[in-house]
Amino acid sequence: MTTAILGGGLTGLTLARLLHERNEKVIVLEAGPQIGGLCRSRTTEGFTFDTGGSHIIFSRDQEVLAFMRRMIGGNEQRNDRNTRIFYKGGFVKYPFENGLYQLPPEDRFFCINSFIKNLIAVEKGEIPHPKNFRDWIYYTFGAGIAECYMVPYNEKIWKYPTEKMSLHWVDGRIPRPPVEDIIKAAIGIETEGYTHQAVFSYPLEGGIEALVRAIAAPVEPFIRTGFRVTSLKKEGKIWQIGDGTETITADRVISTIPVQHLLPCLEDVPPAVKKACDTLVYNSLVCVNVGIRGDLPPISWMYVPDKGLGMTNRLSFPSNFSRNAAPPGCSAILAEITHQPGDEVGGMTDRELTGEVLRMLASMKICTPDQVVFTSVERQTFAYVVYDLAYQENIRAIRDFCRSRDIPLVGRFAQFEYLNMDGVIRSAMDFVTSYPAG
Ligand SMILES: Cc1cc2nc3c(=O)[nH]c(=O)nc-3n(C[C@H](O)[C@H](O)[C@H](O)COP(=O)(O)OP(=O)(O)OC[C@H]3O[C@@H](n4cnc5c(N)ncnc54)[C@H](O)[C@@H]3O)c2cc1C
Repeated sequence: MTTAILGGGLTGLTLARLLHERNEKVIVLEAGPQIGGLCRSRTTEGFTFDTGGSHIIFSRDQEVLAFMRRMIGGNEQRNDRNTRIFYKGGFVKYPFENGLYQLPPEDRFFCINSFIKNLIAVEKGEIPHPKNFRDWIYYTFGAGIAECYMVPYNEKIWKYPTEKMSLHWVDGRIPRPPVEDIIKAAIGIETEGYTHQAVFSYPLEGGIEALVRAIAAPVEPFIRTGFRVTSLKKEGKIWQIGDGTETITADRVISTIPVQHLLPCLEDVPPAVKKACDTLVYNSLVCVNVGIRGDLPPISWMYVPDKGLGMTNRLSFPSNFSRNAAPPGCSAILAEITHQPGDEVGGMTDRELTGEVLRMLASMKICTPDQVVFTSVERQTFAYVVYDLAYQENIRAIRDFCRSRDIPLVGRFAQFEYLNMDGVIRSAMDFVTSYPAG
């Protein structure tokens, strides 16, 4: 029996490897010229940048973390996280609630005062349970932390009004320090938040793509790149998978490609399911990569909530993840700009985007234009799942339909879930455990 895996990103490759290790016959069909999906990296003029946004290896899931670290083997640099939020010209420790002592005094007062008053009101049951993401932010943190950081940053990354976002996903994804830590942070006692990420790994050579390459190594002969699946049909017991010029057959199919790509491959999709799929919300991403002469502050990455500074929502410093990510004497900066598919950011030229980012970096005093020795721009259509209020209903309709067609969905945009690398590897592991032998 052959299992065809649609998509050669991290999920598809992990599935292929795990099934291969079980002696199953697999074939991975990847549309792009190379494997890796969002976990690709490009090295040019000695600078290595991840093309799907800056990636680091971390997880609460010890089995998955051990798997990822085993895959990259000795090709690993371990780093202490030093993450900041750029706030009113200063570098505030991340998570924001753990960095309150670094705020100007009036903002510190606003945050801690409203946090405590809000906490008392919640305890007394005076504030109704939140029904959307914005209400959850106010309910959990009070108006100060909400208005100084949480709402502006979240609206900048999601490009979506927080009151129109669901809150079912926040547990575990948004740091929630204990009350004591917030009070300590406000009076200047150092605390650490989101501790499972406090130490992270990154490949010394090859960027994050080194991880997917290592996972893919034993299944390389079974990967077809340049095969964009455009039709998928079951005839009798056999799947016919086409790319418009060729048809490949398989006994079973697993999809790791975005549902927005899968459904158009299928016949007789009910209009309600098609509509549910069209209604799902996601963000695209532009990465502006900048190589400079000289050093950077020893910061891992930095959130930029202030819209006035520029379009970038996050800056990462890959040469602080791996000493080999930039040539000697140079440093690397990766600016991430999320945007809605088809909006004006998508229409901006590389030159316009780069100019915008360089102006922002200069105004933040991170680097001056004369230090710049390299720039490049990368674009990803599918970057972030956005959980709008209709999400759960829409995704249920799509999943039920795909189940009825015998097409398992595994992966970030196949499940349409905000899953990190550890999440998609966990999904792949769990899927394979329950997959009957072929
Ligand atoms: C900005 C950003 C930063 C991130 N940072 C981190 C991080 O620091 N740590 C972390 O753990 N995770 C991080 N992630 C998440 C991580 O990138 C994803 O969890 C992971 O890459 C998802 O892998 P995937 O295989 O499910 O999806 P994808 O990588 O999207 O792979 C899907 C594959 O399907 C292919 N495909 C699509 N359509 C077709 C078709 N019709 N036929 C054939 N093939 C097709 C695509 O070309 C692609 O290769 C980040 C994500 C983003 C966007």
